[in-house]
Amino acid sequence: MGDSTEQFDVVVIGGGPAGMLAAGRAGELGAKVALLEKNDSLGRKLLITGKGRCNITQAEFNDAEFIKTLGKSGKFLFSSLAAFGPEEVIEFLEKRGLKTKIERGGRVFPVSNRARDVLKILEKYLKDNNVKIFYNAEVMSFEQVDNRIGSVILKKVYPVKSSQSEVAEGEFNGDRIKSINIGKNSITAQNYILCTGGKAYPATGSTGKGYEWLKQIGHTIISPTPALVPLRTKETWPQAAQGLSLKNVGVSLWQKGKKQTQRFGEMLFTHWGVSGPIILDLSHEAGELLKKGQVELVIDLKPALNLEKLDERLKRDCQLFSNKNFRNYLPELLPQKLINPIIELSHIAPDRKINSLHKDERKELAKIVKNLKLTVTQLLGFDQAIVTSGGVALKEIDSKTLRSRIVSNLFLAGEIIDLDGPTGGYNLQICWSTGYAAGTYAVKDEMV
Ligand SMILES: Cc1cc2nc3c(=O)[nH]c(=O)nc-3n(C[C@H](O)[C@H](O)[C@H](O)COP(=O)(O)OP(=O)(O)OC[C@H]3O[C@@H](n4cnc5c(N)ncnc54)[C@H](O)[C@@H]3O)c2cc1C
Repeated sequence: MGDSTEQFDVVVIGGGPAGMLAAGRAGELGAKVALLEKNDSLGRKLLITGKGRCNITQAEFNDAEFIKTLGKSGKFLFSSLAAFGPEEVIEFLEKRGLKTKIERGGRVFPVSNRARDVLKILEKYLKDNNVKIFYNAEVMSFEQVDNRIGSVILKKVYPVKSSQSEVAEGEFNGDRIKSINIGKNSITAQNYILCTGGKAYPATGSTGKGYEWLKQIGHTIISPTPALVPLRTKETWPQAAQGLSLKNVGVSLWQKGKKQTQRFGEMLFTHWGVSGPIILDLSHEAGELLKKGQVELVIDLKPALNLEKLDERLKRDCQLFSNKNFRNYLPELLPQKLINPIIELSHIAPDRKINSLHKDERKELAKIVKNLKLTVTQLLGFDQAIVTSGGVALKEIDSKTLRSRIVSNLFLAGEIIDLDGPTGGYNLQICWSTGYAAGTYAVKDEMV
């Protein structure tokens, strides 16, 4: 980009899911669009979504139910979800060659199980619509003129990778351009779409920079907090079970001897404690309870059996596997990685023959299997959070167009706004819907 005075109709800042969709959509409507991304590639976070499989959206519910799931703020999404909801997202991807499938709980994934395939479709969408992509283009601030943005100030620009990028004179470092003289280091446009994301997983590029600029230009930022986060536990045994994923378990949170809430589904043991879909969904409530005192997390490893039924099974097993010792029997009941912790908690010697277990010992074992207790000490921080709760106050954004009510040529989309949902594809759908609307109205601006 040798010419620093090049004018664009729309400049999109941030090449995550929201920014890519917004830029492609604006280009599709005929605008001359620039997409500025500070990394040397697009969609770094998108690539790690759904453990690299990308839970694209949520197909179980209609719009009204989707909105209800997002809580009080959900109605903000009403208009953009109606225009580009889960059905439209699936159609958008399928039309461009990505086959999708629906898994348990309405979670939509690519049939290939590869987030990269979703990214490829978005990159092609940008290319097909002549979006000019600037990689390693870190926006540092805005230049404001009255209540409009005049230009964005960049740290540096490398025109790499894009076939549409112009060759510019610069300083070279091996085979890569290290820096380029672009005069004022600024880019100007009629309208700007800010999609720099939240603060979660900053290693992917989302460091929350956008909040600072928006505060400076008069927006209210609802204090960003980590959401959908793993939990740290006092006990260290989960570390030994690290990587173990349990598909059909019950997890409940307890305080002062009272059950507060529970979920059924999939969880994961980690280096610090516990994670996985149901833990992430419980994390907000765990955080609230921690403010009031100690929180116990109880895992029911056999939710389909009540205590009595489990004891009957153990009794049968004691006869069926009478020759086995306790340690060798346990794999019949539990995943390998849980055997040591259960042996320790049960205080039953691992070499005891299981037909020698007393009734009380057997009943105690059943209790442990249905009430595996952990003490929650902390929610992990932004480094491990899936999304950010908080962000640009919704009342300062027009919900149909995603236009800022403070700065007339600024639009906002994606995680930067004060809207987030549970696991299951809700958060990416928020990005697709708001990105599509912002891309549309940043172009159709004059007509609305
Ligand atoms: C581990 C993990 C798994 C997830 N899995 C799922 C899932 O399966 N389904 C789901 O619905 N959601 C999932 N999410 C949430 C989802 O990924 C995010 O909500 C979504 O990526 C937010 O998109 P965004 O475009 O708003 O922001 P981001 O994806 O954060 O993108 C923002 C972009 O802006 C760029 N940027 C930031 N500052 C600047 C700057 N100053 N100048 C230029 N560029 C800048 C960043 O480098 C980044 O590329 C997951 C999140 C994580 C962390």
